Amino acid sequence: MDYNLCDSKTINRLLSAHGFKFSKALGQNFIVDEEVCPAMAKALCANKKTLVIEIGPGIGVLTKELCRVAGRVCAIELDKRLYPLLGETLGDYKNFELVEGDVMKLDLKKLIEEKSRGFTSVKICANLPYYITSPVIMLLLESRLPVDEIIVMVQREAADRLCAEAGTRNSGAVSAAVQYYGSSEILFDVGRESFMPSPKVDSAVIKITPYTQPKYSVKNEKAFFTLVKAAFSQRRKTAVNSVSATLKIPKERVASALRELSLDENIRAEKLTMEDFAALSETLVEPQKANEG
Ligand code: SAM
Repeated sequence: MDYNLCDSKTINRLLSAHGFKFSKALGQNFIVDEEVCPAMAKALCANKKTLVIEIGPGIGVLTKELCRVAGRVCAIELDKRLYPLLGETLGDYKNFELVEGDVMKLDLKKLIEEKSRGFTSVKICANLPYYITSPVIMLLLESRLPVDEIIVMVQREAADRLCAEAGTRNSGAVSAAVQYYGSSEILFDVGRESFMPSPKVDSAVIKITPYTQPKYSVKNEKAFFTLVKAAFSQRRKTAVNSVSATLKIPKERVASALRELSLDENIRAEKLTMEDFAALSETLVEPQKANEG
């Protein structure tokens, strides 16, 4: 049976039949706007040779749209209470596969390796649980998964940070990390009224395209990320003060490294570019500090 999973009566009937109550702790805000999921699936540009990995299918509203455009959809869901419900709502979709477990704990590389045989591309699509948005995105990027594209819904504010270019106002440690691994852009906004239950904030759908070859020349990745985190650790302070206090490096040494790059000594972290961070990490972070960080 093909359910309309955006219809509140259908949803309420399904949820009560399965004795399901929303869990705030698991970030359960389900999409009820008929336009959002088809738009996300369309943005994915998938075809029958595409394997899609979804994180958190909920009752399957996005999953259904993904099943329509892709060859196979493997959806990772942590909440056991949703398994029988998904069996009912997605029973007709033969290319749907439920992966039971916690996305933060599964071996995603192995999962993709096993499931992608016979497919020519792998994409990730999700309405992410908000309590782990950045950790999930960092995990996907740091694991260097063989994926072509990541299209995810996140809180609007998180979208601004995740897609900000280093050297611009919204940038932070997470923006630098995303930029290090790929290019990112905001695709479209989604209002809070598009969810059940409705959250207190609006959302946006973003696209991250991981680089196939490293874009930035960074000799020591650990040192680079240690420096980036230290520079943004105290946003109101200058980069000199944050880096010096966090990494216990004399201020004069940090200031002189900035001068060598022809940068202002009073510069704030948000004004530093990826190239600046790369150059500074080489001169400022000692190998043992990088390993601690
Ligand atoms: N995709 C559905 C939608 O758009 O309506 C549900 C999205 S809801 C924001 C997030 C989903 O992620 C929920 O189904 C929740 O149970 C699931 N989830 C939460 N934490 C998870 C985790 N660590 N691993 C896998 N799924 C998780």
